[in-house]
Parts: sequence; C-alpha cells; structure tokens
Amino acid sequence: MDVHIFKTSDEAAKYAYELIEKGIREGQIRTLGLATGGTPLKLYAYMRHAGLDVSNVTTVNLDEYVGLKDTDEHSYRYYMEKELFSHMNFKQSYLPDGTAEDLEEECARYERILKTHPVDLQVLGIGKNGHIGFNEPGTSFDSRTHIVELTESTREANRRFFEREEDVPDRALSMGIASIMDAKKIVLLAFGKSKAEAVRSMIKGPVDEACPASVLQMHPNVVVVADEDAASLLEDAGKRHD
Ligand code: PGA
Repeated sequence: MDVHIFKTSDEAAKYAYELIEKGIREGQIRTLGLATGGTPLKLYAYMRHAGLDVSNVTTVNLDEYVGLKDTDEHSYRYYMEKELFSHMNFKQSYLPDGTAEDLEEECARYERILKTHPVDLQVLGIGKNGHIGFNEPGTSFDSRTHIVELTESTREANRRFFEREEDVPDRALSMGIASIMDAKKIVLLAFGKSKAEAVRSMIKGPVDEACPASVLQMHPNVVVVADEDAASLLEDAGKRHD
C-alpha cells in the first residue's frame, strides 16, 4: 500500500482531489466509485469548486440505507446530490436503491451495474471498527453487493446525523468486499484520532475478516491518504508530506 501522511485533513483531501482530477483529465477514470460519511466532504468540496468536466464519467456509490427515500435528507442519495451531483455534470450516477421492494434482486441489479461499469478509482473511508462500505467485521472477503445488518458501533457512529436514535436505520445495502476489490485503484481516506487503530490494523495487522480493511493489503493499487492523527500509530510507515 502506498501511504501518504499530511499534517491536516484539508491537505490530504487536496492530494486525493489531485489524483482524481488527473485521472479524469487523462481519461483513465471512466467510472468513479464514491463514498459517503464525514470523511470525503472536503474532497467533494474541492471537486465541486473545480469546474471539472465529468460528462464522460459515471459514478457508483458504495452503499445506501434500507428504507430511506431519495428525498430523505439522511439517505445517501440525498447526501450525494447535495455535496456533488447537483454541482457537476456526471454522465450518470448509481447508488443501490434501499427502497426496492425486492432487496435481494436490487443487490443482483447493482452487481450487474458494476459489471457494466467497472470501477477505475474507488474512494473509500474506513470505520473505527475497520469496516469498508458497510462491510462490518466478519464479512466474507468473497462478498458481493448484499443486505447488511448494521452493528451497534456503526449505528452509534452515524447517530450524529439523525435526530433520534431510533431513526438510525438498522439495515443497508452495500457493495461487498469482493465488489470493492474489483476496482482498478482504491484511494482510502482516513482522518482523525478515532481512526488510528483501524488504520494500523489495516496496514500492519494480519489480513483477516475481523478487520475488513486489511483485505486491501492484497490489492495491487491502493493509496492511503491520511492526516497525522489517523496515521499516529503507524510509526515509520508512509511518506510524510510536511
Ligand atoms: P466517516 O465514516 O467518514 O463518517 O467517519 C467512514 C466509514 O464509516 O467508512
């Protein structure tokens, strides 16, 4: 893994933006994999302010809550429209549909979309428990897009976005670990002290389903972009951009 460490999350996000901008400008990124959560917000701010022409770029998102409509401000579709899609001219943008009547069929449909649009670069965050997408510890490395029961730790982490605890959905649809590993290149962003242990396990720990992100050690083209806090348990690993 190619690890880059920056003093601030803002500098780190700018670096990730530059990787993506170059890939799009040079035509290497035809399909861009996107993520939600707090981590990519600065990256998306750089993207929407840059006026990039993305009319040839398709996007696919990692995951979506079950049961929230597009118009629900907590849905990931809503988040993506607000932060990125309404400001940019992407060719088309896919997320799993968490309101589909047949969720199993929706997962199969999403896998077909991923086959038609193989991901050239996937943006990833990492959960405090090492999850990627909504793939919680213990998820099979062979998993494809699937229905996920969210763990207490993930519901708790996402609680801040909801008014009441009982409003936090308990299920989601998520690209599986094997689906994520199909991306040609992965850029994983990690910011803040709360991610330090997960980042250490991802890079230094055994490749084990107990830490889903550790599977990335097996991927040939992963760039980890971290701030100093998230990288604080790595000791000498990585290139420091001071
Ligand atoms: P966060 O979530 O960006 O909101 O910290 C990251 C993740 O859970 O993958």
